[in-house]
Amino acid sequence: MEVSAKQKTITLIIASRNVHKIRECKAILSHLPNLDLLSLLDFPKYVPPHEAGKSFEENAVLKAVHASKELNHWTIADDSGLVVPALQSAPGIFSARYAGEHATDADNRKKLLQEMRHLKDDDRYAYYECCVALASPDGVKKTATGYCEGTILTKEKGGGGFGYDPLFVKHEYSKSFAELGEAVKNRISHRRKALDKILLSLETLLY
Ligand code: IMP
Repeated sequence: MEVSAKQKTITLIIASRNVHKIRECKAILSHLPNLDLLSLLDFPKYVPPHEAGKSFEENAVLKAVHASKELNHWTIADDSGLVVPALQSAPGIFSARYAGEHATDADNRKKLLQEMRHLKDDDRYAYYECCVALASPDGVKKTATGYCEGTILTKEKGGGGFGYDPLFVKHEYSKSFAELGEAVKNRISHRRKALDKILLSLETLLY
């Protein structure tokens, strides 16, 4: 934490190098005062831990605690993914590497469409899950989880967002997350819900 003469300015690191995630987190947290929001892009030499956890929460805690200790700042880490109950909860915590260790988002979407090709409409139900962990250099302080329920399309729609967004339509919406635009997504997403839950803790712990 850095303290200036009159006002406390707090450094908070978003423990990610995913530019989309960073942009979404920054947009959602941008109203907090005196916050210097950094990300792992500001620490090119930092090597994140292997995501060896068995749940979103275990991975989020692992990433937040490791980065806050190594970089000596308050840190938030998000671990998130898409869960399809009809596929035995795949891709789940393996969402980023569903089609292989070095898979691109497009590879992962292609594999998802392939795996779901025989499913009935009802079985195309899916949800995004996001766990956010907040840690200080002396340990984890708080975790919170947000969900966003919807349906997986049979082909991609829209050019925005990232990951599975061109295939995901939230319940009660007709456009995919990739068509809605970032401002709308940031109001209704799993990430927004998790960050909203953690905001109170952030405010009481940081200020
Ligand atoms: P993580 O970086 O290990 O948490 O993996 C996140 C992966 O989950 C991403 O690479 C995407 O495949 C997927 N994912 C998480 N959140 C979103 C989202 O908001 N939109 C689309 N895909 C997402």
